[in-house]
Parts: sequence; structure tokens; C-alpha cells
Amino acid sequence: MNRQIAAFRFCARRYETGEPVQITVRGSRIASVEPAWPGQAFLDWPWVAPGLFDLQVNGYGGIWFSSPTVTSSEVATAVRQFLPHGVTCILPTLITNSHAALLQGFRAVAEACRNDPVVDRMVMGCHLEGPWLSSLDGPRGAHPREHIRTADWGEFSELQAASGGRIRLVTIAPEIPGALDFIGRAVAAGVTISIGHTAATTAEIAAAVAQGARLSTHLGNGCHLQLPRHPNYVWDQLGDPRLSASVITDGHHLPPAVVRAIVASKGWHSTIITCDASGWAGCAPGQYTHSAGRVDVLASGKIVVAGQEQILAGSSATTEVCVARAAEMGACTLAQAIDMACRNPCRLLGFPEYRLMSGDLANLFLFRSGMSGDATPGQGLNVVATLLHGQLAYGELASLPSH
Ligand SMILES: [Zn+2]
Repeated sequence: MNRQIAAFRFCARRYETGEPVQITVRGSRIASVEPAWPGQAFLDWPWVAPGLFDLQVNGYGGIWFSSPTVTSSEVATAVRQFLPHGVTCILPTLITNSHAALLQGFRAVAEACRNDPVVDRMVMGCHLEGPWLSSLDGPRGAHPREHIRTADWGEFSELQAASGGRIRLVTIAPEIPGALDFIGRAVAAGVTISIGHTAATTAEIAAAVAQGARLSTHLGNGCHLQLPRHPNYVWDQLGDPRLSASVITDGHHLPPAVVRAIVASKGWHSTIITCDASGWAGCAPGQYTHSAGRVDVLASGKIVVAGQEQILAGSSATTEVCVARAAEMGACTLAQAIDMACRNPCRLLGFPEYRLMSGDLANLFLFRSGMSGDATPGQGLNVVATLLHGQLAYGELASLPSH
């Protein structure tokens, strides 16, 4: 499926301006981006945008990165399944489980990166969500109570070693014993800290931010079903400009008004779209069991803790669907939504942003939609090709003769 081409050119419309351009890719980088008009018909050209970067992906197609039995080939299979969705960069996300299961998961990710160059290019690091979270029903979400535990730098160090130093992001609840000290040590070690699955007080959230926490994980989810009007931990995070927020805009996790309120409050530049794809994403409706518990995949696409329909257990939508839905909800333009799912995670995690400029890494995706500059509601976003480090990793590209 991957074709190595030294240099090639193709035409498309820039995602943020609609300008028709001719892009030359040489090796792994964009060699040039030149205007390709007037004088050519371009309204049937696909759009081109930087490849999506999803910092929270739990697995795909029945594969969980945090399964105690996950293998490196399963990791590779799940990671590669994001290429048809325009995703070029992901953080495989391991959620609360036994220490042995997490060790196995991180070792499998590290081995997959060593064995498979495509996976190595896509995996920008790992996200550890748990096991140092609130044990309360609601904030805990779908994380299994029996594996929730107090923050432990020694345990983290073992997991980080198993991952080959790939853990770049940790979601933690600031109120649990040892969390504040943990946050300080992690930040000093270059790990980004996110607040999530928490029932923290105003003072505890402020203390976490003072220690260096910079993100709220899927703000508005992983909460009690009812909260005091104020103060509460949603307002406290929403109102702190030092915290960016990730949001799951699959249409099930947050109502459109909440998505609009978060994006308006944080600004699109400080909001990150993630799909939080469950390991059951891509699976048919039914009941499924894995080491973290049982879930129902509903016909609507919702994935919930088995036996009820209010506590969500991750999403079945992929990243490009969440990008399109954020725009459809009226929270932002489609171009902003794309930036929220590629440039913003890069910036938060300290990676160079890749855009559509000469010299940038050629991580790109081409897509079709009904948008004309801004998003047109209900039009979706259909990926037609994905380029990873300058190589066609998915789809078809009508390339022009190279110079
Ligand atoms: Zn979560």
C-alpha cells in the first residue's frame, strides 16, 4: 500500500483558504506550495490539510492497547486503521488496568514501533489515562474501580521504561494521594499533564495547574451526572486560561451547546478535538467484554457501560468524523476544527507544527466535502488520500509529472 516516490506533485485546494495549489513533495517533506490558478478548473479538486493528530485513541476494531494480552502486531493493526481516517499521528492511550496489563501494553506499543516503520511514524508517544483517577462513580467513568490507585512515581517509571520513553501525556485526578507531587515530577521530566476523571475542589485544581498541568481531558465528560451550580470542577477548568481542553465531538459525549461554550471560552487555539476511540470502535452493535469490564455498543454508535445508557465508555467515531461534527455543531469552522485536531496537539505536546508550507513534514490528507470555505452542516468529511512522511499511505492521488 505504501509507495516510495522521490518527488511528485499534485493539485488540491487549501483547507483554510480554498486556494487552489500545486504541492510538490520531495522525500518526507513539502518542497513547495504554489498557486495553481487562474486558468484551471479546480472546483472538483479535493481539499488538502495537515494530517490529523489524535492524542487519545484506546484501540480499534476489538483491539485495546491496554489489554493484558495485546501483541505488537495487534497494536500495529489498530494504529494503521486510522490512516483511512486522515490520521497521521496518534497517541495510543492506555487506560486504568493492572500494572501487569499496562506493562504489557506499553511493551507491545514499543515493539510495534520497532518492527513497523509506518507505526513508528504515526505513534508520536503514548497517553496514560489512569490508573491514578477518582474512584467515585461518575468521575471514574468506565475505568474499573478495582484498578484505581494512588499516584506512584515508581510505577510510572517502570511503565515509562516499558514504553521506551514514549509516555508523553498523563491524565490524572489532582485530588488523589500523591498526585500533586507526581505532577511536579512528571512536568520536570517533560511529560504533559492533563486533569481528568476528577472530582477535585477549586483549590486542588488550582494546585495542579500551579504544578504544571496544562490540559483538561475530555472536559465535560467523566463527571458526576449532577453537580452543584458553582463552584464545580467543570467551571474551575473551563475558567482557567492556563488549561487547554480536549473535547470529544462525536455527537454523543457532549451536546452541541456545550461544545460551542467550551470552544468559545477556551478559543479554538486552546481546544483539542479527540475521538477517544474505544477499542470497540469499528465493531458491530452488541455486548462486549474485556479486562476493564463489559460495554454495550448501541445501534446509534454510542458505546456505554453495559446495562445502562448514561455512562459512556469511549466513542465509536473516528477523528475526522469528530472534526466534521465540531463544525456542524457551529462551534468553529471546518478549517479551525482541523487545526484543533492537528496543530493544537502538536503545540501542546511540544512537537513542531506541520502545516501546508514548504519545508514542513508531508503529513497530509486529502478529502472531499460540501464545504465552501466554511463547513456546510451535514456534509461530513470523506478522506480520499493520506500521506505519511511524504508517502501515500492510503487512497489514491492523481499526481502530476514531476519536474
Ligand atoms: Zn476518559
